[in-house]
Amino acid sequence: MNTLYIYAPHFSPRLKYTLEFVFTSYIKVNYQLIDDLNEINKHRYPCVLNYSFETLPVHDFWIKPHDLLSQNGISPEIELHTDYRGPVPYFFANKNDDLGFDIFSAIFYLISRYEEYQPTAEFDKYGRYQPESSVLQQLKVLQKPVADYWMRWLFKAIQNKYPNLEMHKPAYRFISTLDIDNAYAFTNKGWVRQSGGLVKEIAGGRFQHASYRIGTWLNLKADPFDTYDYIFEIHKKHQQKPLLFFLVGDKQGVDTNLHFRNKSFRQLIKSSAKKAGVQLHNSYASSRKLKRLNEEKSRLENIIHQPVHKVRQHYLAIQLPQTYRNYHEAGISEDYSLGYASVHGFRAGTSFPFYFYDLQNEKQLDVLVYSSPIMEVTLQQYLQLEPREAIQAYETVINEIKKSDGIFVSLWHNESLSNRGEWKGWREVFEGMLERAK
Ligand SMILES: [Zn+2]
Repeated sequence: MNTLYIYAPHFSPRLKYTLEFVFTSYIKVNYQLIDDLNEINKHRYPCVLNYSFETLPVHDFWIKPHDLLSQNGISPEIELHTDYRGPVPYFFANKNDDLGFDIFSAIFYLISRYEEYQPTAEFDKYGRYQPESSVLQQLKVLQKPVADYWMRWLFKAIQNKYPNLEMHKPAYRFISTLDIDNAYAFTNKGWVRQSGGLVKEIAGGRFQHASYRIGTWLNLKADPFDTYDYIFEIHKKHQQKPLLFFLVGDKQGVDTNLHFRNKSFRQLIKSSAKKAGVQLHNSYASSRKLKRLNEEKSRLENIIHQPVHKVRQHYLAIQLPQTYRNYHEAGISEDYSLGYASVHGFRAGTSFPFYFYDLQNEKQLDVLVYSSPIMEVTLQQYLQLEPREAIQAYETVINEIKKSDGIFVSLWHNESLSNRGEWKGWREVFEGMLERAK
């Protein structure tokens, strides 16, 4: 038996989208959609998943729908009908069907990011959706990929019902990524920017920093952000190829990298592209401006002479749905921005990538969204963890993902691997993570 026949009286774009996610990312099974009840009755298929309001006269695995997937637009009042299996919550609970809840509505709710469009949703000054507004944070399960748990439950339940149905799980994967917001601390910054920095440091009493700057100036000391040799060596040792996202936007506000025409900066990007994946860290200014995004994309393409189709938004400042519409327009096919700055965890409840669903147009876009569940800056600056505690946090997240055979995307910066100042001891964290992420 190698096909699961899925019956529903109507396949809305939402339902098709969610089925595609569930039955290709985690549960790998051949499936066929059937909306004609007569056909089901006539053929008496051996494995039927019934997503309708009634049980069928044939043998079926029944999931009773709530109405989220047959609706259009965004409703300000969605009742989630939360219940629990052990410590893991689920939504759209049912009585009497074969799973106990409408898993498809529950997953759609999370991966469409429905809650981010709610009138109660809160945003910070950078326009970032705040984790406190999210149901997973409110239920204190942000660090559990709950949707991955649900898919595991569904896999088991279908397997119990149809032991001969051919189904497979995916294999765990790890992608190590780094954002290059500031390629160098002092090198190549020019005399004007340098002197200004030095004056500020001395006036602010930051003498150690000032002495470092002068040392780098005179080429006596290595630039603290120049951690590239270490980055390439440690990945080689762990047989990993990192993915580097370079910020090449114009200097403005929080977009602070060197000018994209700077010779050493271009050289660094070029040589990195020989040893690692190099893609675009699109600037904060480009997050709502397609023209800027296109400019930055072609800047980078002109430097590396390779197509750019992956991005991470600087400051993780994505705004739904505009940023993803722009990605789609610009020909970006993969995004790695989905995470929070202030807490770690699974913003969409899953470690698996999913296509962005534009709720306002009821349409799936060809942009595959990868979650970045844990960023070193979150642990060090927002949560103020010690290196030892940070390793623990990584271990917990990695174990959760391994349990789901999911994908772990790590997010670091060249700056935080300096092993100096506030980042002293964090190389150990990085290496501890690489060790555990294997
Ligand atoms: Zn950044």
